[in-house]
Amino acid sequence: MADQIKITLPDGSVKEFDRGVTGLDIAASISEGLARNALAIKVNGEVRDLSRPIEEDARIQILTWNDPEGKAAFWHSSAHLMAEALEALYPGVKFGIGPAIENGFYYDVDLGGRKLSTEDLERIEEKMKELAAKESRFERRTVSKQEAIEYFAGKGDEYKLELIRDLEDGNITFYQQGNFIDLCRGPHIPSTAPIRYPKLLSLAGAYWRGDEKRPQLTRIYGISFPKRKELDEYLHNLELAKQRDHRKLGRELELFTFSPLVGPGLPLWLPKGAILRDTLSNFLKEEQMERGYLPVVTPHIGRLELYKISGHYPYYKESQFPAMIEDEETGEGYLLKPMNCPHHIQVYADKPHSYRELPIRYAEFGTVYRYEQTGELGGLTRVRGFTQDDAHIFCRPDQVKDEFKNVIDLTLTVLGALEFRDFKAQVSLRDPENKEKYVGDDALWDEAEQAIREAAAEMGLETVEAVGEAAFYGPKLDFMVKDALGRAWQLGTVQLDYNLPERFDLTYIGEDNQKHRPVMIHRAPFGSLERFIGVLIEHCGGNFPLWLAPVQIVVLPIGQDYADYAKHIGERLMDAGLRVDVDLRNEKVGYKIRSAEMQKVPYMLVVGKKEQENETVAVRKHGEGAQDTVGLNDFIQHVKAEIASQLRREPLEA
Ligand SMILES: [Zn+2]
Ligand SMILES: [Zn+2]
Repeated sequence: MADQIKITLPDGSVKEFDRGVTGLDIAASISEGLARNALAIKVNGEVRDLSRPIEEDARIQILTWNDPEGKAAFWHSSAHLMAEALEALYPGVKFGIGPAIENGFYYDVDLGGRKLSTEDLERIEEKMKELAAKESRFERRTVSKQEAIEYFAGKGDEYKLELIRDLEDGNITFYQQGNFIDLCRGPHIPSTAPIRYPKLLSLAGAYWRGDEKRPQLTRIYGISFPKRKELDEYLHNLELAKQRDHRKLGRELELFTFSPLVGPGLPLWLPKGAILRDTLSNFLKEEQMERGYLPVVTPHIGRLELYKISGHYPYYKESQFPAMIEDEETGEGYLLKPMNCPHHIQVYADKPHSYRELPIRYAEFGTVYRYEQTGELGGLTRVRGFTQDDAHIFCRPDQVKDEFKNVIDLTLTVLGALEFRDFKAQVSLRDPENKEKYVGDDALWDEAEQAIREAAAEMGLETVEAVGEAAFYGPKLDFMVKDALGRAWQLGTVQLDYNLPERFDLTYIGEDNQKHRPVMIHRAPFGSLERFIGVLIEHCGGNFPLWLAPVQIVVLPIGQDYADYAKHIGERLMDAGLRVDVDLRNEKVGYKIRSAEMQKVPYMLVVGKKEQENETVAVRKHGEGAQDTVGLNDFIQHVKAEIASQLRREPLEA
């Protein structure tokens, strides 16, 4: 056995090291700074402790705070540190699980009926800081199942004992830092030293193993950072995020509501919300028309037979509303549609098609129903009835690239009009090692994957590739945006499909007069109107761009003497196609301004004696205060130009 091993670094270079070298040694051989910042190491795809010896040739990556896996190790280690603090403060506390999550970590704990207060969380935080300062090492140790059972039986921790029961002897490891020992697979960062700025954020109840028949534990959420500045920034953004929460703004701006009688996850759009929604969908419809989409309208239900052919029934039963069975014997009945595709396929199948007609793009704002679990419902991001900006494109294989370009162009236009500046897409490809998992011709897959890559590159869309993430029926492109607070949101998708055209035996007549199979593309780039509007509200904090604001202008007369003039201004603006309110309440103008500011109306027009005499308006802009006093026609021109520039269109005639 050679006592040297080959280590391949992320840049492809290969270095030789003694067998048994550790991640920390390798980091130190690269630079002192890297050794200082290293948190964990990825060895042949597996994240490990830096101190573990490497015994064979490997491809490695040193993980720091800048890598998601580095952060995860940091946060999971912080969960152990919190557990150590809890044990010091509340002897006898029992522990469930304590993973890292997207932002921070949690630990589920049994405090024997004790309720924690905000002051308690602060005490725990202080204890964590005190323990972190001891710079205890996270020591990994393999233990026998027997030893593991004895240790946790001795502590009386039935949760850990239950977890151990499912583990295989020989694969069980403990991690210890200071006096605290946990059952854990790891990996962990080298020591508690860098966990200098922990913050415990909130408490929740969590059933043991997610089972409501089991005991309810206390879930303590926290986050931690190596630097004070990062913690401060995070807390600041968290505060901003709270103010922008679309559920809160949806209520304050009177956009949507929920009724327990109608049912959870079924939003009711209030007038202002409905105007917002209509304005957005009309804009999308116009953009789609320009790009060659054809509108179709299909019903909200379909026969079970349709979904048996499509494969949506009975396989996805648990995520659908139950079928309406009309004949118990034959099982014949209807289903609320979980997807629009089968209906659109029937539109395509209505008559024969020639290759010259393709691509055919059927678009519909189609409302679908899915039975999401009650626990997952919250605001507009997860709902049980939603309207997709759906379309299905039937095309020839050689048209795939142009179709993707067309969709990307539409998406970028709309995101631009909504002031999203930061977006990218994920290309989901098949796993080349497991080609048998996928339907469709091998060469077609290669061609399509390449077409998607090229389409994105030619449209200047930044992409990441995810190998093995394609659906069994085709590769896809998923859009993601970052909002004004830098939070990433998944939007909709463009999905190639070789499966449904096969199942429904769709054809077109080719140049050779023979029948050919069209490729189908499902595309809903914004996902659903509900979710997209939820994201949009949080992005702009309820300050919608002028073109989209439910009320664009409010006219505020200074006293009842000018009510008629205010009404006259309101009518003129409405005639110009603008959405306007006239606030005729018998209140002081200051009060009316404040209330319009709260409603985030982009423009306020204050009118009194001087304005009436000169046919002018005194303009105030939301958040910016008083502007100039201008003639009404000038104001209308100005507003129209602003809308046109937001939509990147020519201004409409006044
Ligand atoms: Zn652990
Ligand atoms: Zn579809």
